[in-house]
Amino acid sequence: MKDTSEMKITIGHLYPDLLNLYGDRGNIACMMQRCLWRGIRAETIEFHTGEYIDFSKLDIVLLGGGSDREQLIVCQNLKKIQRQFQEFVEDNGVVLAVCGGYQLLGRYYRTGAGMIEGLNLLDIYTEQEEGRLIGNIILDSDLAHIPVVGFENHGGRTCINGCRPFGRVLYGEGNDGRSGCEGVIYKNVIGTYLHGPLLPKNPQICDHLLKKALERKYGTAGLEKLDDNLERAANAYICRRFLPGGSMHCRQMDLVH
Ligand code: GLN
Repeated sequence: MKDTSEMKITIGHLYPDLLNLYGDRGNIACMMQRCLWRGIRAETIEFHTGEYIDFSKLDIVLLGGGSDREQLIVCQNLKKIQRQFQEFVEDNGVVLAVCGGYQLLGRYYRTGAGMIEGLNLLDIYTEQEEGRLIGNIILDSDLAHIPVVGFENHGGRTCINGCRPFGRVLYGEGNDGRSGCEGVIYKNVIGTYLHGPLLPKNPQICDHLLKKALERKYGTAGLEKLDDNLERAANAYICRRFLPGGSMHCRQMDLVH
């Protein structure tokens, strides 16, 4: 196996000046720290609106949440590099897109004020409806052995057109409050409504993204196990609080631990 000290991950944080709701930046801090704890070098490059993005230098791309107005500005910028972004996605580049960022990856986001044309990287679309879907949310996801927890706040309802969801809603609303699906997975892209921020609350999802990025770059990942006792205790608290039979999920967690 390759020595981890020879490995390096470069994270591109897209438009932190605009897509910056609910501390989504914490996802970057989490990825960086979990690399550093394992002796893997990690670097983050911030791209502000109007700056050139060279996707060939990036291993992971993060897009956070934003208001409708900010999403429109971001999308106008991203349109200019749609082809390069698409090539990155098709070449198994790792992307985490949260809420407003998630909506922008699809075909369109229709709001009461008009239409935001999306990047068309995923075959999904979003339409605003009356009322916002706000609150704690808990998912069952194939990518984690224990429930994925977070917080959602969105006016848009996303239709994933039969694509693979990120998770099934155990508590909360998810993509549209009806389908029981939350988020989407396509290749190494995760789109989700979960703020929290997502990764510090769900380190298994963080490690999944790091593993995919390392495998793409070095052909191997072999991530050393870390002590996630505090994160697991926080997860168990949320499950106990919101899930009927929440203790059942906690027992399942103890088995994994
Ligand atoms: N503006 C979008 C919506 O309301 C996304 C909001 C967000 O990123 N939290 O649906």
